[in-house]
Amino acid sequence: MSYKRENEYPSSYEAKQNILEVGRRMYRKNFVASNDGNITVKVSGNTLWCTPTGVSKGYMTEDMLVLLDTDGNILRGNRKPSSEIKMHLRVYKENPEVKAVVHAHPPAATSYAIAGLALNRPILTESVMGIGEIPLAPYAMPGTEEVPDSIAPFVNTHNGCLLANHGVLTWGKDVMTAWMRMESIEYYALVSMYSHGLIGQVRELTSDQVDRLIERRTRDGITTGGRPLCHNCNQNGMPACLCGDQESREIRTCQGTGAASSPSSQRRTVDPADVSLMKEIVREILAEKK
Ligand SMILES: [Zn+2]
Repeated sequence: MSYKRENEYPSSYEAKQNILEVGRRMYRKNFVASNDGNITVKVSGNTLWCTPTGVSKGYMTEDMLVLLDTDGNILRGNRKPSSEIKMHLRVYKENPEVKAVVHAHPPAATSYAIAGLALNRPILTESVMGIGEIPLAPYAMPGTEEVPDSIAPFVNTHNGCLLANHGVLTWGKDVMTAWMRMESIEYYALVSMYSHGLIGQVRELTSDQVDRLIERRTRDGITTGGRPLCHNCNQNGMPACLCGDQESREIRTCQGTGAASSPSSQRRTVDPADVSLMKEIVREILAEKK
């Protein structure tokens, strides 16, 4: 797959080949079941190729794809476009720099979306630098305007989002970027699940470490991704956020950027008190079984 310069679009041939390839990868990696998932790629300022509805994304052929305008009208193709096309069209409308959108249901990240949890803990250096925090879009009824409305707040500031009780949406300057973000989000979710759930012990990055990673990310030209939550106050970038650095215990003001774009009301994190209570209950249940 070739990468395009900014403001340059792939040819229809390239766009269709790339959609078929991402569809195969998505299916092979078990990120979708049955006919789930959808992919779109823009080929001009107002046209895009889209995957059809009712077809496994692992076995698509070129003739199944549909050419649409950015209002969703069919320009070419014999099949119906994806039922979630409104979500894709809204991403393009909100952020004209985006040229491809990928939607799938990868199991670990989707489990976070079901739990009502954003992926916003600073646990992996690569995740902080590469994809940043992944906010949770509130629940929306499939096929309605609620879906595009739920994702719109994140399209200019983040690289993807979880869809509550549904799956994951990513976007990028080309379809490979959007796909790699989908892979990175699933990896982040899986590692988070192992470390929080199976091992039960997580040493999160400190505010200073996150600051330095975000500085590096910005130097590399990545301006989206927000900022993960501070490890000891569960906030980011809020004026009231006073982070005590874990090592020095100095109180300092969090310089995060993510909060303006993703209101704290849309984030839900696990309260440490709840975790202690859950552990206590599990211990009691186990003791009763003995
Ligand atoms: Zn879906």
